Amino acid sequence: MNQLIDVKAVAPPKQSVPRKGSGQVASTEEYQALYRQSIENPTLFFGEQARKLLHWYRDFDTVVSGDFYGFSNPPSWFNGGLINACYNAVDRHANETPNQIALIYEADDERLNYNVTYEELLARVCQTAQMLKSIGVKKGDIVTVYMPTIPETVYTILAICRIGAMFSLVFAGFSPNSLRDRIQHANSRVVITTDQALRGGKVVETKSLVDQALEGTDCVEHVVVVERTGAKVNMVEGRDFSYNKTVPTFGVYCPVEWVDSEHPFFLMYTSGSTGKPKGLQQSTAGFLLGTVLSSKHVFGVSQGDVYFCAADVGWVLGLSHAIFGPLLNHATTIIFESTPLHPTPTRLFDVIDRHKATHLYTAPTVLRLLRQHDEGQIKKYDLSSLRCLGTAGEPIAKDVWEWYFNEVGRRRCSICDTYWLTESCMVMLTTIPGVSNMKPGAAGMPFFGVKPKLLDDKGHEITSRPAEGTLVFKNPWPSMARTVRGDHQRYQETYLKPFPGYFFTGDGAVFDKDNTIFITGRVDDVVNVSGHRISTAEIESAIMTAQAENLSIASETAVIGVNDDVTGQALNAFIVLEPHFQDKGHAKVVEHAIEHVAKGIGKFAVPKRLFLVKDLPKTRSGKIMRRVLRKIASGEEDQLSDLSTLSEPAVIDHIIQVVKASS
Ligand code: ATP
Ligand code: MG
Repeated sequence: MNQLIDVKAVAPPKQSVPRKGSGQVASTEEYQALYRQSIENPTLFFGEQARKLLHWYRDFDTVVSGDFYGFSNPPSWFNGGLINACYNAVDRHANETPNQIALIYEADDERLNYNVTYEELLARVCQTAQMLKSIGVKKGDIVTVYMPTIPETVYTILAICRIGAMFSLVFAGFSPNSLRDRIQHANSRVVITTDQALRGGKVVETKSLVDQALEGTDCVEHVVVVERTGAKVNMVEGRDFSYNKTVPTFGVYCPVEWVDSEHPFFLMYTSGSTGKPKGLQQSTAGFLLGTVLSSKHVFGVSQGDVYFCAADVGWVLGLSHAIFGPLLNHATTIIFESTPLHPTPTRLFDVIDRHKATHLYTAPTVLRLLRQHDEGQIKKYDLSSLRCLGTAGEPIAKDVWEWYFNEVGRRRCSICDTYWLTESCMVMLTTIPGVSNMKPGAAGMPFFGVKPKLLDDKGHEITSRPAEGTLVFKNPWPSMARTVRGDHQRYQETYLKPFPGYFFTGDGAVFDKDNTIFITGRVDDVVNVSGHRISTAEIESAIMTAQAENLSIASETAVIGVNDDVTGQALNAFIVLEPHFQDKGHAKVVEHAIEHVAKGIGKFAVPKRLFLVKDLPKTRSGKIMRRVLRKIASGEEDQLSDLSTLSEPAVIDHIIQVVKASS
């Protein structure tokens, strides 16, 4: 905590001040006044925002009913209202500005790029909706979407909500077993996929993976196949058919099915960083408000912006900020099918310049990768269209933050470190661009309607500042997940029961003297060495800032605690060296990194064991799976539990070997 409470603030760059007429708060005073209202009178605040930012077919009677205390059912929002997500994201803008570009498809191979206007988007969505209706999809059904990030995925998702059905998004590339579990969990009659997917020039055999997943399931009646590459794939007679051949035969209008505010919207799984992924169910109006608010007030998105969220739409970040956030706010969004390294590590910058993107939103894992590959080429890009740079998903180390600010943002753009969860579907903590001071590594201040609190181990609120503890939220917000589908008990036990009256995030935090909030990592990752409570994120940050020869030593690192007879717990660090140091004698650089930890935090924070590895185990959404490292470092590699979201299984064997070789 010592280091975190002293982080100096960086003033918000003037260029990132919201544009006039964007409707976004433009000063600290304005932000504080609105925040105060959102806390003192949430009914007034959320009611007003819901009416202002969304179109209602029938107005709601009440804003919020219920609280966390009656945790058998989470609060419900906007009862009595009738709404449709697709109408809000598409129709109202297609009616007003039919020729405005809604989607910019940035294909894996950029020669295949094309744009889609709002009018075209509406037509494609309606045709897709008609197709779904023709095979019997109706209100209440759950369609499984196993698709890469391409325009047809956007059409499909919007079509499903247009007709009042629900979607379950499964990242394309999940193994057949994980996909089967998810299809069965949703009891889907229809699965939509592609013949193949392309990511970074590599082919993923999506259709074949679906076929394997369907072996042993009997709920699926139809598989709709979008022809992404045109490859000849197995088609099961009577069950499978081509999207491309059927959809154009339908008319370009399909009426909207207005649904109740609390109508189930989609099923989305958490990343699986801390255990088996939770299949969270969202409701319609709450999600829409949480997303439109985050996009408008955190990123200041409005018509004229070109928003670039470089995440896959199979994760909540992509769903909320590559699709719904920009579309609800009448902007243009880039649908990015590729990877940041394809065909070269400057792909993202190339995309920004070509499309004059106003925002970039990505995760620390991508930034670490880009920094690792940055050999000065980034300077050749103009990047002057950018106003705001977002990051989410993990704490961002100070030096990575600085690299983002200096090299990508050229000190002109605010960095929005946004803290949120699949469960929240709304940004909960953030920096407001052009308004708030930024502290490198801090998630910032609470967003509208969010009351963050720090609890001590006994569950009492800590009111002194600076302070460190467990982060919880005191009050409900519209877009909180309503349940873990099929296992409401898990929902209660995970979020509501640990500290009755609060929503438990599972994360630790430091509130500094200005009440700026730093996420210190998962509470499960807090280590206690000889009585010192140590946040592993802080040690990781220190290792990441260590330099030799004017270069960073580590490109990635993960610190974990394992049981130790003498000290209670002992720190173990896994370090991936920067390429420059990988082939050199390691001993000196590593020693240097350790000294840096000792100097910056204290001797007690120096890891007892240190492993140099080539890569770290990560979820498919790019988060480090520390629970896996903990098991391996404890010699319990036979008990790694749920690995369904692990992205590179080969990394595990490599790490087991490194650990074994050193013991
Ligand atoms: P699971 O719940 O299955 O273990 P997960 O928590 O990684 O997986 P997500 O919902 O994708 O699933 O991620 C939410 C978590 O990501 C938060 O609880 C927090 O630990 C981390 N996180 C998100 N944004 C930030 C941020 N800006 N700074 C620090 N940590 C963040
Ligand atoms: Mg989680």
